Amino acid sequence: MATLDYFQKRVQSRTVPTTAEFEHMLRATDLRVTRARLAVLNAVYDHPHADTSLISNIVHEDLGHVSHQTVYNVLEALTGAGLVRHIQPPGSVSRYESRVGDNHHHMVCRSCGSIADVDCSVGTAPCMTASDDHGYAIDECEVVYRGLCPECLSATASDQAPQTRKVSRV
Ligand SMILES: [Zn+2]
Ligand SMILES: [Zn+2]
Repeated sequence: MATLDYFQKRVQSRTVPTTAEFEHMLRATDLRVTRARLAVLNAVYDHPHADTSLISNIVHEDLGHVSHQTVYNVLEALTGAGLVRHIQPPGSVSRYESRVGDNHHHMVCRSCGSIADVDCSVGTAPCMTASDDHGYAIDECEVVYRGLCPECLSATASDQAPQTRKVSRV
């Protein structure tokens, strides 16, 4: 079910860079170009906020067998190089996205777990300016908005007993 959600989100995603562009990005950050790194980059660009199991599945479809550990190591390397961003909203598994460096926030659906990007609400990254920084050099601020996504809202509104009906069909 969560996987289906990613495929819906995929429709709204931006265009994915070409393989040559991915190779350029890897070289620019001093990472060796490997098929696994290219496949993982492609999966993250194509499926914003995907978790590691979805990314693993996509990479398997692309390259045949690649161990989960390899995918995990590649995600670590890409995150360390700043090519992908790791997020983990409270109560969620680790997720990865290609939109890096802008401190954007996330909106998470309480019902289906879908995730949407939210720009900072006013000006440029106002949340980075803490009312009191306690002397810390702040470089990230995590804000999570929670609620119901449009799909779940309309399902609730148009279906008087959604749970009962879904269960009885299984
Ligand atoms: Zn939802
Ligand atoms: Zn995001």
